[in-house]
Amino acid sequence: MATNSSAKKPFNLAIVGGGISGLTLAITLLQNDVDLTIYEAAPHFGEIGAGVALGPNAGRAMEMMSPKIYDAFMKCKTGNQWDSKHNSWFTIRVGDARRADKNGFVRAGKKVGDELFDVQLTGGGGRGGVYRAQFLDELVKHVPEGVAKFDKRLVDLKDAEDGSGDMVLHFADGSTAQHNAVIGCDGIKSKARTWLLGNENPAAHAFFSGKYAYRGLIPMEEAVEILGEEVAKNSQLFLGYHGHLLTFPIQQGKTMNVVAFNSRKSWEDEKWVVTTSKEEMRADFAEWGGHVEKIVGAMQKPDIWALFMHPPCDTYTKGRVCLLGDAAHATTPHQGAGAGMCIEDSFIMANLIKEAKSVEDVQKAFRAFNQVRHARTQKLVTTSQQAGQLYDFELYGDDLDKIEENFRDRMGWIWNIDLEEQLREAKKIFHSETAKI
Ligand code: FAD
Repeated sequence: MATNSSAKKPFNLAIVGGGISGLTLAITLLQNDVDLTIYEAAPHFGEIGAGVALGPNAGRAMEMMSPKIYDAFMKCKTGNQWDSKHNSWFTIRVGDARRADKNGFVRAGKKVGDELFDVQLTGGGGRGGVYRAQFLDELVKHVPEGVAKFDKRLVDLKDAEDGSGDMVLHFADGSTAQHNAVIGCDGIKSKARTWLLGNENPAAHAFFSGKYAYRGLIPMEEAVEILGEEVAKNSQLFLGYHGHLLTFPIQQGKTMNVVAFNSRKSWEDEKWVVTTSKEEMRADFAEWGGHVEKIVGAMQKPDIWALFMHPPCDTYTKGRVCLLGDAAHATTPHQGAGAGMCIEDSFIMANLIKEAKSVEDVQKAFRAFNQVRHARTQKLVTTSQQAGQLYDFELYGDDLDKIEENFRDRMGWIWNIDLEEQLREAKKIFHSETAKI
């Protein structure tokens, strides 16, 4: 069982999983003297070498939850490199040469690869792309020695037999741990989710979204050489038939992050990340225009990431267990907001637990969290899948006017959320539940 002599709260928590969710939650809870242990399946904390874009909502959440987390983000974040593009989320272009008419135009005066319009960021707050591994390293610095236990892969949860109402975590190595309550931050293949929703429940398991992605990093110097400065140094989104490609700068503008998406009906491989050949990757974008062909041609590691997502579920909490982050609402990445939602979750959860004075209160915190976070996070899962279809000419076909109109209202509800108001609402639910007892 976790012990921490400075703990002031009369309960201890298990956080399962030390990704962006688990770490942002743990750092904020530790600031409030909550006794906790992180159980991580891997032998150490680690993130993949790729970029992740965090929007204004995530920036504001980090600023409010912990100076440590916000500083880590500010240290790592990179925005568009041109002042004139400072407020642009992405510059939208057609990338697919098949969209052009016989004279090469996709719209009056616009050819394949030309700028069509910018999607303007709203909502203030810090935002930008971070190199995942660097951001995680910065976060890990704020997790004191001994708080995390590694090589602890959760396989099951059971009620304690000692009548305490505690949960017992069972790990793949045969060991167990008992805690007053558990927060499952164990990602898209969450075992906490399987326990909470039931293994037979289809909602417990992720399904293939119909999209897959290649991820790559290109040194900025090389990117500028092949694409020109404006395209390389600022965020771009190239639209096409059943695929799209996006880029954004990371690592203080030294690197261009690339994600190239394509479609297929099903995913049979047990593994969700598989290596293919450069030829196959290039064949996927063979009919696209100059920019996209050049970017794909410069990508070195042709790994395919199958994009899975969770079906809707009724609840994120049961008894002394709650799901948070991807474990609760794994989404496709098409609105660049999955990790941002995880951080928002951590902000709300940590502040609710801060109010708790007993383990019964922790359960109330879980229920209040579920009530305020469920609709918003489920909406992200649905709209994100639609966004993929929009970019891939599957929602309005290749009608660029309708696509532009749809972009205008697509992201505001994500970026402009009043998180303080949501927290007030959550606390109100928490305290009214407290009053009922
Ligand atoms: P994870 O990052 O999956 O972490 C889960 C942790 O739990 C891991 O450390 C894992 O080892 C551990 N774990 C797993 N199972 C167990 C177990 N049984 N026992 C113990 N530990 C366990 N989001 C954005 O906001 N912006 C983007 O630009 C963006 N781009 C993306 C691009 C792609 C291609 C993909 C696939 C996703 C993208 N996302 C993006 C989404 C984002 O990556 C996720 O929402 C976020 O990383 C989830 O964090 P998490 O901590 O909840 O889960």
